[in-house]
Amino acid sequence: MIPRLTCYGGVGEIGGNKFLLEDKDTKVLLDFGAGFADGSEYFDSFIEPRQVNGAGDLFEFGLLPEIPGLYSEKALQNTEMKYHEHEIDAIVLSHYHWDHTGRIGYVDPKIPVYCGETTSLIDDAYAESGTSPLEGHQIKKFRTGDTFRLGAMEFVPVHVDHSIPGAYGFVIHTSEGPLAYTGDFRFHGPAGSMTEDFVQAAKRERPILLVTEGTRVSPDDIKGNLSESAVLDEASRVVKGTKGLVFSTFRGNDVDRINTFYKAAMGSGRRMVVSMKMAVLLERLKDDRRLRVPRVGKDVDVYVRRKKTGKLDDSDYYPWERPFLDQGVSAAELGRKQDEVLLHLEAWNFPELIDIKPERGGTYIHAATEAFNEEGEREEGVIKNWIAHVGFRYAQLHASGHAPMKQVGDLVSGIGANRVVPVHTEHPGLFKAFAGRGRSRLELPKSGNLSQLPAVRRSIVKQ
Ligand SMILES: [Zn+2]
Ligand SMILES: [Zn+2]
Repeated sequence: MIPRLTCYGGVGEIGGNKFLLEDKDTKVLLDFGAGFADGSEYFDSFIEPRQVNGAGDLFEFGLLPEIPGLYSEKALQNTEMKYHEHEIDAIVLSHYHWDHTGRIGYVDPKIPVYCGETTSLIDDAYAESGTSPLEGHQIKKFRTGDTFRLGAMEFVPVHVDHSIPGAYGFVIHTSEGPLAYTGDFRFHGPAGSMTEDFVQAAKRERPILLVTEGTRVSPDDIKGNLSESAVLDEASRVVKGTKGLVFSTFRGNDVDRINTFYKAAMGSGRRMVVSMKMAVLLERLKDDRRLRVPRVGKDVDVYVRRKKTGKLDDSDYYPWERPFLDQGVSAAELGRKQDEVLLHLEAWNFPELIDIKPERGGTYIHAATEAFNEEGEREEGVIKNWIAHVGFRYAQLHASGHAPMKQVGDLVSGIGANRVVPVHTEHPGLFKAFAGRGRSRLELPKSGNLSQLPAVRRSIVKQ
């Protein structure tokens, strides 16, 4: 069989990447994530897919592709689809965001998962402090500089900069020529040059097909492109200008952001305080030879929230939480030294503020993306009500995990693949302008979960 790529997600939507790449008798999935809006027409917090029906309730609405030889016995046990031995050789993961990993929990654990070493460490932390979507799978790790072969295909992973460490793009050598897949990327983070490395590596191979994300390729990408270092400058200014408590909400696995706030805290003589979940992640990532993260206990303290009896007894906590109790900071202690700390507090932990008793006049920094839909606006409204309730100033500061439209265009024309397939974007049609500039032919993946791309043919190389 000549190589072919089938897009089962990420088509006309941001996230949900699920791409089946087949070459001869080798079948590999590039990412297997959940779409951000997956099933929101049918499911909500009050109507959820039933556990007992495994993948069945998702099949009903086309939220999971019915690929034979992919799912676990458990996921299929009560569905009409029969389980049989796995036919997919591997899942190759670009990075650890849910929109790339979120459906792996349904996959047969006999199928190995290939991921970056850093992704594997992040996964260890998630497994320890909660649940892991990769549970039960054999993990095969790589770093930039490695290559690995899966049947007819050879994979060359190359690091890219993104809002989680351990993100990769790939050059994939098929029997008909090379293909490049970007995963998610940006150029404006602290490791922006890594994305340049990927562009150069892909360009050198003269790919016949480029599969690229385009999150911010949109008619209204008018937001300024704040870099992570600009976030640090502004956060430092805001923290220095605050008397009283500073607390912030941001994605707990965005290590660049953790470092940004750690530096902002240091610069103003404050101590950063993190959640136990973040502490576990930092403990794991200190073993990564390429990452720099603050050390728990030495550089940052750990917030201990009350659980069960509310008396901070060892027995109130999970075994993974107990080691942090000795070096932990309680709400009462935080309350006594409000102008000496910078606290990371996720929105779902805002009720902790009732125990911390913040004095009016402090600052809250919302270091996450601004609301872009109705649900987000509602959440933002609730957050603002809390901030008003404690009498704090509200500051919004964020650097996106994705390249702005112009830089996506530069990447497309820079790599100069024969054909370009835009994914992970709501506006694939807008790629027309970039594709033309680089003389690549635009190939729109069909909308819907089962769109299939025409086969990748050798004749295309000769065009
Ligand atoms: Zn994504
Ligand atoms: Zn991502």
